[in-house]
Amino acid sequence: MSEKEIPCRVCDAKIRPFMTFGPMPIANGFLKKEETPGEYFFEMEVAFCEACGTFQLAEQPDAKRMFHENYAFFSSLSRHMQIHFQKYAELVKDRVLKGRKDPFVVELGSNDGIMLRHFSEAKIRHLGVEPSKNVAEAARQKGVNTISEFFDLALAKKIVAEHGHADAVICANVMCHIPDINSVAAGMAHLLQKDGVLMFEDPYLGDMFSKTSYDQIYDEHVFIFSATCVGNAFKKHGLELIDVLPQPTHGGSMRYVLAPKGSHPVSPNVPALLEKEKSLGLDRAKTWEQFKSNCEKSREDLNALLKKLKKDGKRVVGYGATSKSTTVLNYCGIGPDLIEFISDTTPIKQGKLTPGSHIPVKPYEAFAENHPDYALLFAWNHATEIFEKEGTFTSGGGKWITFVPKVGIIE
Ligand SMILES: [Zn+2]
Repeated sequence: MSEKEIPCRVCDAKIRPFMTFGPMPIANGFLKKEETPGEYFFEMEVAFCEACGTFQLAEQPDAKRMFHENYAFFSSLSRHMQIHFQKYAELVKDRVLKGRKDPFVVELGSNDGIMLRHFSEAKIRHLGVEPSKNVAEAARQKGVNTISEFFDLALAKKIVAEHGHADAVICANVMCHIPDINSVAAGMAHLLQKDGVLMFEDPYLGDMFSKTSYDQIYDEHVFIFSATCVGNAFKKHGLELIDVLPQPTHGGSMRYVLAPKGSHPVSPNVPALLEKEKSLGLDRAKTWEQFKSNCEKSREDLNALLKKLKKDGKRVVGYGATSKSTTVLNYCGIGPDLIEFISDTTPIKQGKLTPGSHIPVKPYEAFAENHPDYALLFAWNHATEIFEKEGTFTSGGGKWITFVPKVGIIE
């Protein structure tokens, strides 16, 4: 691990990585067998800044390596996520847009239009900003106005000149992807009306700590936020945290509601959560030493369980070749010797190998038509949806393996 001091991405204080997950490939870098010799790896180290409370990746690969034409993730593939974003859109309409004349909504990282379509269908002025061109095209085909650019202050100015200030700026699972958070926060502050509202949600640091869900950490997730850190990061751009709304998505997320300082009342939820974070020690470096040992224990337990099942002659396959699975497989050193294949419904991943660990990815049918003895649930954050769907697997004697919050077989 590097001993080098790095500047905190939020407040510029000097910080040091406290933990490395080892050489890590691009989480979405599914590849063909012939591409494995040139595979790209980076040292995935994490650091915590006590000055502003920000948990962050020490180094992130170049954005061009992570977001490209073949970007594999389309939000609308999950039914539960569709319902989640419909509710999110309803909340924005009710809480922010109601009573406003000809409101304007901007979503950053609008993906395939999963959330903005609810504004488009209601004939509300809207604009999506989505850097992945093929995903943006899918949104446009649904009638969702979308531009393919990276968001910063310059783009914010361009949007304001063309459409005026935004009543609501929204995003989901996007802010934690943006390394230059200050540039984006400044752009958001410029884009908003004087009484506009910014809402965004991301995986929550408190859940990651309490569940040892270290698989939230991968190349694209440069931050795992807490209310403490979000409050500090946006304060210098004139935005104030006015509410916090916990969400069940992505294994535990938090929706942060911000507005220009003094323009809206602050909900009692905000001081209550800040107090809770303090009592859990989420703002202290010592807590993250504990997280590191929890990760090491999880890694030992998962290896021990898979090796035992292998010795007992059991068939183990992975369920869901998620981005998160890349961190687990590479950090734990798990390969095709322990997991026969991983099934996934995303066509672009099928027939390829998992990044770094090189486990074959097969279509869903490979799992459904020949159930294994055990299925390792990489998509644990969709457990409810998956258990509903896979009743015949368990009724036929199949068992699920999980590693969040603890490694074990789900009985
Ligand atoms: Zn900091």
